[in-house]
Amino acid sequence: MLINCFPIQFFANVQFVLGNTMTVIAAVLLGPWYAFVTAMMASTGLMLVWDSPHVYLFFGLEALFLGYARRRDIYALYADAAYWLLIGAPMVYLYAVLLMDIPPSHLGFIISKQGINGLIYTSLASLLILAIPKLWFLKDKVKDRHRRQLSAQLTYFFTLMVTLTLLFSALIFNFYSLERQQVMLKQNMTEAVVHISTAAQNHIENHKAVIQNTANQLNLMADTPEQWQAILSSLHQSYPSFISMLIADPAANIVNASPLSRLLSIQKQQQSINIKDREYFIESFYNHRFFVSSAFLGRGFGNDAIIAMSAPFYLDEQHTKIAGIIEGSLDLSHFSYIDQVNKYSTDESVVMVDEQNQIIYASEKLAFKPLSQFNFVINKGVYRANLDLINIHNTTSIVPEYIYTHHELNNGWTVYILKEFSPLLKLAEEQMFSSFILLLISLVCTFYISTKLSTLLTVPLEAVANQFSQPDTGKASTIDENSPKEVFSLYQRLVTSKQQLVAHQLELEQTVANRTAELEKANIKLTELVDRDPLTGLYNRRYAERKFGELLDFCLRSEQAITVVLLDLDLFKRVNDNYGHLAGDECLRNVSQLMQTYFKRDIDIVARYGGEEFLLILPLSNALHIEQHLNGFREALSQLNITSPEDKQSFKVTVSIGAITANADYNVQLDKWIKVADDNLYQAKQQGRNRTIINIISD
Ligand code: GH3
Ligand code: MG
Ligand code: MG
Repeated sequence: MLINCFPIQFFANVQFVLGNTMTVIAAVLLGPWYAFVTAMMASTGLMLVWDSPHVYLFFGLEALFLGYARRRDIYALYADAAYWLLIGAPMVYLYAVLLMDIPPSHLGFIISKQGINGLIYTSLASLLILAIPKLWFLKDKVKDRHRRQLSAQLTYFFTLMVTLTLLFSALIFNFYSLERQQVMLKQNMTEAVVHISTAAQNHIENHKAVIQNTANQLNLMADTPEQWQAILSSLHQSYPSFISMLIADPAANIVNASPLSRLLSIQKQQQSINIKDREYFIESFYNHRFFVSSAFLGRGFGNDAIIAMSAPFYLDEQHTKIAGIIEGSLDLSHFSYIDQVNKYSTDESVVMVDEQNQIIYASEKLAFKPLSQFNFVINKGVYRANLDLINIHNTTSIVPEYIYTHHELNNGWTVYILKEFSPLLKLAEEQMFSSFILLLISLVCTFYISTKLSTLLTVPLEAVANQFSQPDTGKASTIDENSPKEVFSLYQRLVTSKQQLVAHQLELEQTVANRTAELEKANIKLTELVDRDPLTGLYNRRYAERKFGELLDFCLRSEQAITVVLLDLDLFKRVNDNYGHLAGDECLRNVSQLMQTYFKRDIDIVARYGGEEFLLILPLSNALHIEQHLNGFREALSQLNITSPEDKQSFKVTVSIGAITANADYNVQLDKWIKVADDNLYQAKQQGRNRTIINIISD
């Protein structure tokens, strides 16, 4: 608001506004509604200076437009250019046409000024934001919704720079050029007015001298009145600016005149013309002096606008007895020849007024009647220029019509030189327009150059990115020679880290492979340990119980029989007692080996059930052969010689067997099967050991 209280004067009624920079900053950082509030404050400053409430509308709308454009990621400068083109300019146009007394010829200037002004404060704001990093981290500031391209960013900041510098320099240049123009104009007009005044003054002085000289001549010839007419006629021929000349006698009757024809025709009708009431006669005849009248309309002898110059002449050398007066009527329209010397420009006009402000002469195009009053109003309105401004036709308008200078002649007359104001404004407008065109051309170049510039960075970067995204082809590739040092250094560092990464990865893979192999081995060992009995290497009871379910399912599908067998070594306690515990262990190992060779189908499960007891699960059993097979094993064992590892004594063991053979659907629980087998084993022990008892349960 404070900044806007002091707008910068440019030319005519054009002022530049910089306070709106804050509105743009608010729009970019905080969005439309903060910008709107800021615009209201800024406009209040202008309101105080211009007293025009419309600024609230123009700048309030601008703020909202910029704010909403910001939310759509549109850069402020582009948005502001669009605003002034699409909304601002038409609004200013309507405002100027409907509400202000501004001629259409001034509109272009005013509208383009407003647009340029908008671009200036918007660029200024954007560059300020860029230059003040604190603003980037403002809390709650509006953020870009999409990541911007480097080329777009570069283009924008180049555009800002170009716009700001170009417009500033163009405006400053235009300002000084206009100032200079005005100084020159003023100088020319001052010279012209002095020139014309001098010419007019000389014209009058010359003709005054003519009358005075002729009066002197007539003094000498006062007694020969018949010669006066000849003198008068030849004189008039030499000085055509006199519309008429006459000589009157002391009785105020015209006795000689030029043109003579006019006098003769008058004399024919009226006999004579008496001029004793004329001021020039009175002054020269009674007051004995040379006289120059004000401008007036002649009467009697011609009715033209004239000024009369008169002088007395005498009969005697002492100048006491008046012989008559000589008078010349200077034709006011003859001043047009003075106007013609004013050949500076066609839009200049001349007005000459007498001491009573009657128009003696006015250039034709002004269309003033001679001897009418010259009415004018000095324009001190809103249009600012280093020149004096005047209105002579439309005296109530605020728009100045003419630039003027004036000069007073010795005789109290004044010469005015008027020059139309609008060409100067036109010049300012043309300058502003050419600045605009220059700006447009520069912006096109900026777009082109910044796009090219951005590729200097993006293309090498993309090349680097591509190289690292592709699978390693093994061959050493490199990037373009022309890429910048920074990109090349980045590339080299990436290459090094990639090599390190690959080496590390290989190492890691090897380690993992080794570990996995070790782990697999350990795992297999572990499973073995879990499922097997460490002493005999047979499966343990847990494994047998777990597998029983699978085997049962398998046999259920094929409706086959299963045999479950419990074996218990006979009087094993004695083996331990007689041969030692190690011999017992050796015995258990030998028994196990024999069992594995006897029950060697893949599908059979041979397990140590605990202590010196073993469990056999034999699926797909043939009920007819099973008892025989078990007895075969029992007999083979009874033949087996076992050697004690300590004292190398040889001994034998026998086994008692309890078994059950049934179809798979007999029972799903192993316990039920074992119960029957255990009962049978008990029976076998009871019946004297080393025998087999089997239940074959059939449907
Ligand atoms: P029975 O004919 O009635 O089965 O008589 P037995 O002596 O075999 O029966 P008992 O249950 O009284 O004795 C079993 C013996 O087996 C007792 C124990 O010392 C021995 N034994 C159990 N497990 C092992 C082992 O792993 N190693 C050794 N050396 N002996 C074991
Ligand atoms: Mg036992
Ligand atoms: Mg036993």
